[in-house]
This record gives sequence, C-alpha cells and structure tokens, in this order.
Amino acid sequence: MTASTQALRQALIAGERRALSRAITLVESTRPDHRAQATALLSSLTAETGGAMRIGLSGTPGVGKSTFIESFGMQLIERGRKVAVLAVDPSSTIAGGAILGDKTRMERLVRARNAFIRPSPSGGALGGVARRTREAILLCEAAGFDTVLVETVGVGQSETTVAQMTDMFLLLLAPAGGDELQGVKRGVMEIADIVVINKADGDMKAAAVRTRADYASALRLFRPRTGEASGYPMALTASALEESGLEDVWSALETLDSARRASGFHSRRRETQAQQWFDAALEAHLMTAFREKTDLATLRAQVTAGTLTPDTAAEQGVSAFLEHR
Ligand code: GDP
Repeated sequence: MTASTQALRQALIAGERRALSRAITLVESTRPDHRAQATALLSSLTAETGGAMRIGLSGTPGVGKSTFIESFGMQLIERGRKVAVLAVDPSSTIAGGAILGDKTRMERLVRARNAFIRPSPSGGALGGVARRTREAILLCEAAGFDTVLVETVGVGQSETTVAQMTDMFLLLLAPAGGDELQGVKRGVMEIADIVVINKADGDMKAAAVRTRADYASALRLFRPRTGEASGYPMALTASALEESGLEDVWSALETLDSARRASGFHSRRRETQAQQWFDAALEAHLMTAFREKTDLATLRAQVTAGTLTPDTAAEQGVSAFLEHR
C-alpha cells in the first residue's frame, strides 16, 4: 500500500467524510494503478467492515425516494445512527436517466454531520456499478456508518443486484388510483421485505390505505422465507412529506433485523453474498484478461458476418486465450 493510501485508510477509519468520498472515487476508478490501491485498501479493511444494517430501497421515479430518504435518514440520525446513502443507477448512462442520491433533493441530510450521501456514479455496465457499490458499502462501514441505504430505481435487474448486497429490502409505492395492483414486476415483489405505500396524506390517504390492504393480501401469497420473522413481507403506509409512519418502517426493519440475526439468516446471506461477489469478480477479471489477450473485435465481426457461429467464435476465443497465457 502506498503512503497516500495508508493515510487515506487512517482518515477513513477516523470517520472523515472527505476521506470516504476519496476512497469511493478510488474504487470507482478503472485505472489499473487505482485499482491496485483500491484492492489493497479494501483488503486492509476487512476487520472494519460488515457491521452496518444494509438496507436496499427501490421505487419508480416520482414515488418519493429522495423525500423518504431525507425524512427517514433524519429520523435515524436523531436516534443516534450514522446514515450513508449510496445510489445504484443502471440508467445513468442513458441520457435522461433518473437522478438518484440527488443531493439537492436531500438538503437537510446533506448538512447533517452523521450523514453521507453519494450520488450514483455515471457510466459503466450494471456489473461494474454493482462491484463499485459493494465496495462503497464496505468503505462506509469502515468509516463508521452503521446504516447504509442503497437506493435504486425500479428497473429490471438493478433491484436483484441491490438485494444481493443488502440485508433487507424496502419497496416504495404510490397509492393506486384504480383497484388493480400497479405494474410492479413480480420479481421486485419477491425481494421486497417491506412494501411502503408512500404519500399516505391529504387526498391520497384513503387510496393509500386501500392500496396497503391490497398489497398485504398479495404479499400473503408469497411464501415466507425460511428463518423469517412472521408477518414478513409486510405492507405499511407512510408519508415522507409529512414524516408520518416512518417510525413504523424503522421498527419493522429492526424487528426483521433481530429475527434474521437470531436465526442465522444474516450470516448465511452474507456467505452467499460473498460467494456471489466472488463469482462476479471472477467473471469480471476473466473478461478483462480475455479482452487484453484476444482479438474480441475480429471474433465479433466474424459472428456478425456469419462466417463463424457464436458458439464456435466463443470456443476459438477461449482456445486463443488459453494459448496466450
Ligand atoms: P423520487 O423520484 O422517487 O426520488 O421522488 P421524489 O422524492 O423526488 O418525490 C417526487 C414528488 O413526490 C415530489 O414532488 C415530492 O414532493 C412528492 N412526494 C414525495 N413524498 C411524498 C409524500 O409522502 N406525500 C406527498 N403528498 N408527496 C410526496
């Protein structure tokens, strides 16, 4: 480890937010020398990590994620917790993608001493984003944050990815206008531990109460997972704007967290997460090495031209790679 990385490590462990920012920038970098320092830093921090309550949070744009994180985060800080907010946004590479972890929308939290907010990194495939987020979680833990909220937008694969790196998953929904369940993908319902019907205030309160009841029955159809506290997955109502119902969300999270700790669910999940992380890292490293050693562009061109079948091209690529070791 270089002297500057060593200094960064000290400042990070001392809980300096600027050091945490710099460390996250380091793990986000793809420059080989940065990567080497990031790896050295992370390896030196294993004893300092794993302590936080890792909470995944998802919902479609406009449902109130930023508002919820701000209100909920402030309440947690009042309870004496240290809250880090990370964002996973696979759409940020696309122009007009949702803005996650938007600091301008979390004004109070940004100023709070015991909060840290990191907007989503732009660029890169979901695989890369996932790796960087996993590493950022570890860095937040090393910096003493005991609650890490990982925000993602309700599109496809990203929830599953976030669920794999967190302990519990919150899904935010808006009150439904009609009587049918909103177009929530089944997969997202399956990973949600707590469904929060947000905007349960003013004109929308009655609709929110109805929507909650609909989801409570829908969730009952999903079998409780092994080692779970009874009553989960659960549906609640809240108003991020009026800051009501947030205590219930927190106590539901705490209850689930204790139950999962007692049953060994958490440690089993962390083991699975470590394995999944290893698999993903292995794949990423193999692909990087593969790209360096073989002429992927030519193989691709041959597949496009139809001179090679995709399978043959893959086979030839791997043979060439192995010969070049
Ligand atoms: P995000 O895109 O999911 O992060 O949603 P935002 O937090 O930016 O909120 C989108 C809009 O919904 C904003 O105009 C918020 O003021 C509003 N909003 C958020 N939470 C609530 C709530 O609990 N009640 C009401 N009435 N409006 C809310």
